[in-house]
Amino acid sequence: MRKVVIAGNWKMNKTLSEANQFVEDVVNKIPANDKVEAIVCAPFPYLASLVEKAKGTNLKVSAQNMHFEDNGAYTGEVSPVMLTDLGVTHVVIGHSERREYFAETDESVNKKTHAAFNHGLTPIVCVGETLEQREANETMSLVQTQVTEAIKGLSNDQVAKTIIAYEPVWAIGTGKTASCQDANEVCAHIRNVVKSLTDEATAEAVVIQYGGSVKPSNVDELLAQSDIDGALVGGASLEAESFLQLVEAGAK
Ligand code: PGA
Repeated sequence: MRKVVIAGNWKMNKTLSEANQFVEDVVNKIPANDKVEAIVCAPFPYLASLVEKAKGTNLKVSAQNMHFEDNGAYTGEVSPVMLTDLGVTHVVIGHSERREYFAETDESVNKKTHAAFNHGLTPIVCVGETLEQREANETMSLVQTQVTEAIKGLSNDQVAKTIIAYEPVWAIGTGKTASCQDANEVCAHIRNVVKSLTDEATAEAVVIQYGGSVKPSNVDELLAQSDIDGALVGGASLEAESFLQLVEAGAK
């Protein structure tokens, strides 16, 4: 049985005191069962504080990006060594906003995914098409390429531990959600791509999230789909109450 993974991606939001308050508000309310994993993906400056507050609880703390090198002359960057040193457990890699605004490529995504495993971090690798690509019927081939490039060179064991987030770019922050059937069709396709590159057991183990305007009112239907194993949530993860509702939906 795959776990349901609910990850709240705060993006560039919250002050330190708001971030701390959020974790204090949710930390003891995360259901303690094996079905669901709850993660907050926070800005770099807050990670140390949030890891401390989440220690010994069921809430995990993720970064939203990182460099692939361990250290070096990369002004302004944060390395996987720094993240593990803080006690961070997950890292989002290749979010569409990073691909669009910060020149993230399939190649850098692959390097970062390897770097994550080399340092014991679980990568949450984002893939997904733009509206133009969807309208041009390129969704399946684009997602296939993104997944293939992202996991290139990983062992089957590492692929099984990778979290893949399917996020159609046109559904992010727009209030538009892909229909559950459309989202599931792409997630099933991703699982097939993983199977063709690895084996059946690996493909059955990999957690595939959907992301793009997920909220408490649509999460149940999305999670009921055969190949959707969780959600990467932006807007609806900013308030403690709605984040908790999403996590509770995953624990059902
Ligand atoms: P959204 O963002 O839930 O606000 O659409 C999702 C994401 O970008 O991860």
